[in-house]
Formats: sequence, C-alpha cells, structure tokens
Amino acid sequence: MKKKNLFLLLVLLGLFIGCSSDSDTSEIPPNSGTGTPAPPPPNVDRSGNLLATGASANDLLANTNFDRIQVEIAHQPGFRPTAETISNFQDFVRLHSFKEDIEIIFNQFPSPNQETLTLQQIDSLEQANRTAFNNGRTLAVYIYFANAPSDEDDEEESTVTLGAVFRNTSMVIFESTIRELAPPDNSGAPVTLTDVETATLNHEFGHLFGLVNLGTEPINDHEDMDAPNHCNVPGCLMQARLEFGSPAARGLVALTEKGETLSSACTLDGNALMKILQDRTLARTSDVVPLLDDECILDLQGNGGR
Ligand SMILES: [Zn+2]
Ligand SMILES: [Zn+2]
Repeated sequence: MKKKNLFLLLVLLGLFIGCSSDSDTSEIPPNSGTGTPAPPPPNVDRSGNLLATGASANDLLANTNFDRIQVEIAHQPGFRPTAETISNFQDFVRLHSFKEDIEIIFNQFPSPNQETLTLQQIDSLEQANRTAFNNGRTLAVYIYFANAPSDEDDEEESTVTLGAVFRNTSMVIFESTIRELAPPDNSGAPVTLTDVETATLNHEFGHLFGLVNLGTEPINDHEDMDAPNHCNVPGCLMQARLEFGSPAARGLVALTEKGETLSSACTLDGNALMKILQDRTLARTSDVVPLLDDECILDLQGNGGR
C-alpha cells in the first residue's frame, strides 16, 4: 500500500476507533479528556516508580505492601485501547495476582508530533505527563499507548515493535503500529485490534510480574537461552517466538537525561505476533490470545501470585 493511502487509512481508522472506544468506555470517567496535559503533581515521591523492570513483581502479585493498583493509560486522541482490551487486561491481572481493586484512569495528552519515538523520548514524555505514582497502599502503573512507532523498526527487515518495558511500573505500547497491523474489531477478521492489543498488553505486563527470571525466580528452569527473560514452553504468552531478536541486538537501549541506562527487556515483534494469533485461529484454539503456561504460573505463585 502506498504511504499516503496508508496514512489516510490510519487517520480514518484512528477517527473511527476513537469515536467508538469513547462511547464504549463511557462508564469509565477519563481523568483528563480535554487534551490538556495534566501537570505532574508537585512534590510527589517518584522513587518507587523509578526502579528496574521486574523490581515490583512481588508488589504487583501479592497484597503485602500494596492492595490496590492504579493503572494510568496515557494516549493521544484516537489511540486509546478498546474497552474490551482494558477489560481483558483487568481479568489477566485478577487471574494471576491477588489484586482485586484495579482502577483505570485515562490521561490524554497532546501528540508529541514525532514520526518515531526512541526509548529516551518515551521516558521523557512519561516524566512530563505521568500523574499516577505509588501512594499509600496503591501501586501505580503507567502505560503509554504511543501514536508513533518505535524508531527501532526496520522496514527493510519488516520488523515492527508492538511494546516494550523499561521500568518497574512503566511500559509503552506502540498503538499506531498495532492499528496498522490489526483490522478493527467489527471487521469480521479472525484476528482483530482487541486481540493484538490484549496479547501485547498482557505479554508486557507479564514482564512487570517478573517473567521470566526478571524479578520473579523461576521454580523450574524454563527461560529461553536464546531470548533472555522469555519462556521456552511452546504456546505460552511469554514465549520467545513472540518477539524478534534481543533488545541488545535491536538496540532498544537509551541513556536518560540523568545519564542512567534505560533498556527494554522486551521488544515485542508485530509480524511474529500476528502470525501466532492467526495460527491459533486456524488451529481453532479456544483462546486467540495466548495464556501463561503452567511453568510461568508456578513462578508467579512462588513470588506471591495467585
Ligand atoms: Zn517480551
Ligand atoms: Zn511460560
């Protein structure tokens, strides 16, 4: 498809989904739907949200230190995930953790107007726009649904990144890339937007749960030696086949303004994921979106999970 047509399609798709998702989720009040950036709260303690990926695995799984999760979904107009994706994600968290109270808040901020985004830019956007931080017994998670692709995407090798994790409570989902790959939910296609969003979100959240060997110690050895922090059990949500290459090979490593190294333990590849989801529909697997296998579940149970 020509680039112009693709762009037009994306704009139309974005507008359409933007409208439908807004009405679908009307019962969830957005905390900032006006497009005005919410100012970062003054004098908040951010230290608990600036740790390494997997460092809060036990706090996400068990209710020892925190018994509530507040998930801030940051997005640009037209790039909000579907209401069904959010519902699937809440089910996933309730299934594997002891958290019952999972609040979702939406933070719509203006487009950064970038053609692509580096991990450092994503981090800077979070520092400027994030409003949810750990508070009392509430653990805050920030998920940015970006309106621009990863700058690591390689058109020639046709590798596209769907998601990445880079801190204990931070992740990015490349929503514009997902919308380019996945047809809308009402298209009748076997694999739709909600499927790809759900698979991406749950996979990345699995890393925040500490999988595999990323803050949650494996009970039995099932880490894929060719793709660290992923599972070697076929069909598992955390399997290596879901991604392409290692973060080091893909170069998804950045220096922040403070000089600290920021790297993603995961760069989820879009074309590989689409193939897996399509194969699962052809095989008439009951769930299009992969679930965690027994080994990953055992690990979570060993670290305070359900
Ligand atoms: Zn991964
Ligand atoms: Zn697994």
